[in-house]
Amino acid sequence: MSGSAARTFKHGVHPGDFKELTRELPVERVPLPAVLTVPLSQHLGAPSVPLVKVGDYVRRGQLIGKAGGYVSANLHAPCSGTVRSVGPAHHPSGKMVESVVIERDAASAQVLLPMDVQDWRGQTAEEIVGTVAEGGFVGLGGAAFPTHVKLTPPEGKHARFLIVNAAECEPYLNSDYRILLEQTEAVIEGIQVLMKALGAEKAFVGTEDNKTDAAEHLRGALPPDLNVEVLVFETKYPQGAEKMLIDAVLHREVPSGRLPIDLHVVVNNVGTVAGVGQMYLTGQPLIERVVTVTGPGIRQPRNLLVPVGTPLEHVIDHCGGMTEDTRQILFGGPMMGQAQRFLDVPVMKGTSGILFLTDREVVERTEYACIKCLRCVDACPVFLNPSRLGALAKARLYEDMLDHHIMDCMECASCSFVCPSNIPLVQRFRVAKGLLKEQAARDREREGAK
Ligand code: SF4
Ligand code: SF4
Repeated sequence: MSGSAARTFKHGVHPGDFKELTRELPVERVPLPAVLTVPLSQHLGAPSVPLVKVGDYVRRGQLIGKAGGYVSANLHAPCSGTVRSVGPAHHPSGKMVESVVIERDAASAQVLLPMDVQDWRGQTAEEIVGTVAEGGFVGLGGAAFPTHVKLTPPEGKHARFLIVNAAECEPYLNSDYRILLEQTEAVIEGIQVLMKALGAEKAFVGTEDNKTDAAEHLRGALPPDLNVEVLVFETKYPQGAEKMLIDAVLHREVPSGRLPIDLHVVVNNVGTVAGVGQMYLTGQPLIERVVTVTGPGIRQPRNLLVPVGTPLEHVIDHCGGMTEDTRQILFGGPMMGQAQRFLDVPVMKGTSGILFLTDREVVERTEYACIKCLRCVDACPVFLNPSRLGALAKARLYEDMLDHHIMDCMECASCSFVCPSNIPLVQRFRVAKGLLKEQAARDREREGAK
């Protein structure tokens, strides 16, 4: 097994990585808060359907929400306690979302309650996928796509390769890095489970050359008979995007409108892989996750193991509070993170980091006219023309943006990052894509009504 520091994808950008704030800090548990808010929508797809009502007593790890469809996910109680309400609550998306609010039992601890532990070696691929679905697993890299769906290729397609995404290309974040170092046994268990579920002949673990020690650590721990290669890529953004990672690992491009499975590949985040491995080692479903709490605006940056549903303000208190000049709080990293307006929003399955930026980092910039420098074109990893798309978005010619492949834009913000005219390109693309998706849904409805 070997790595190659030169491998990468074409285009992309090099923001500073700012990972030193939490890089060397081992993951520690957050004490349970008094109240936890578990949103029924914290994954892509249909919301979960609540299985509990006000006044019910729930035990840590108990199923409290059933997947609301095939593309959906189960939800489990992150602590023992009493259901205080089932109804709308603040959500990191900025909307009010149906949520189960649990008042913690003072005696509830974070130790594992006795749970059924399955042995994947004795399970069929279908049974493994069923167990992963039962455990409520979704992509922990941020997208939160239900894992059991990824593990079930469409009819006629099959996966030859599993790629474990440990690139963690967003500046500031270290949760994947700490998982590689500290949850190595669970990562290896999870790789074996997912390879069996997919029938994959080989797995790759892809990381960046700012994490070579973690790559070496994993290589040293892998059983010699397991067909896994650990690859180290240039530190470049957005190396962790699915298509970029596939390009770097296999030197193959996922064509526009196609999926990784069309190249016989399934990509899973290393946190998801470790979570699945952990479930097979201990029986624990997805009720907590590693979160990097960082940035110049938080007094004690940390890597934390946080129960899903923990309010942001509880995490802030645990980290010594915010500095006076904190200006913005993001769930995620600085490139693709989601700005938060309320301190009672909960940490969700997809919350990889919480970033606190101050007046120094969040500077209002004046927008100037496009000077056709084409830096954005050189930066775009999927070879779009952000300059042209930006002009169309500004003129609200959204339909025309489709001809320029706006739906291939993965909203990575590389174009905005390099633009000397401070044009808010990615913000405009998000609005345009949202409106185009709504229009497409309306068109489908009209077609269906005919
Ligand atoms: S946000 Fe979209 S257009 Fe801009 S660089 Fe990323 S993929 Fe390209
Ligand atoms: S980087 Fe900005 S100024 Fe340069 S071409 Fe792109 S949109 Fe125009």
